[in-house]
Amino acid sequence: MSEKARRANVNDTVKMSLLCEVGGSCPLCRRDLVVKKKKNNVRVFDVAHIYPLNATKHELTILKDEELLSDDIDCEENFIALCKECHKIYDTRKTVEEYRQLVTIKKEIIKIKELSKLWDKQTLHKDISIVANKIGLLDENSTEKTMLSYDALKLSDKLDETFGFINQTKVSQFILTFFVPIRKALNDLEKQEKAKSTFICSQVKSYYVLLLMKDFNQDQIFEKMTDWFMTNTGITDRSKSEVLVSFFIQNCDVYSKC
Ligand SMILES: [Zn+2]
Repeated sequence: MSEKARRANVNDTVKMSLLCEVGGSCPLCRRDLVVKKKKNNVRVFDVAHIYPLNATKHELTILKDEELLSDDIDCEENFIALCKECHKIYDTRKTVEEYRQLVTIKKEIIKIKELSKLWDKQTLHKDISIVANKIGLLDENSTEKTMLSYDALKLSDKLDETFGFINQTKVSQFILTFFVPIRKALNDLEKQEKAKSTFICSQVKSYYVLLLMKDFNQDQIFEKMTDWFMTNTGITDRSKSEVLVSFFIQNCDVYSKC
């Protein structure tokens, strides 16, 4: 069969989805895949087959023991958006290393896509945004009196080497400064019979376990949980969301071994 006949119908929706997957830049050379030409945005990328559609003898040899992303070569799981230059080089002078690089990139993309499908099912109590608003009203004077003692910090025995120093510093400081006020805000919610903190804790914990099963490391988990708090509660300030995640790391066994 000719390449044309076998080529899947890559419509605009698929193209846009592939463009979003790579964040708008070529995953191999970081070049922008959309450029402005005379005030218009023009797409300058190709849809590449990660495993070649019609493999040459040479490609069959070098890729013979390699992992396939899908049994169907001509489907979205095996597609990736590349700039035209990289696509040309990849299609004509492919190496095993480049193939593996693209497989790794695409696997990460698929993992994140699956996760966003699960997001819909994993909810977080909306009233946590009330707590976030309260954090926003705090200042140096009010937090000074409620600082947590350093000895109470449970972070160090929970972390592994995948949690970077910058995140460690940030989360520690957030816990020391905001733990007590957040605990109070959650207790207030409970008194008003809004959200129960044990219930919120169990939601946070179950999302954490989900991320753990998807094999994300601690830095990635921190990022994904921050996103999740924002998506689920309408918190628009990322740092507020990070403060809340830090609270739950201290309070809810997030990062503890299950
Ligand atoms: Zn490129």
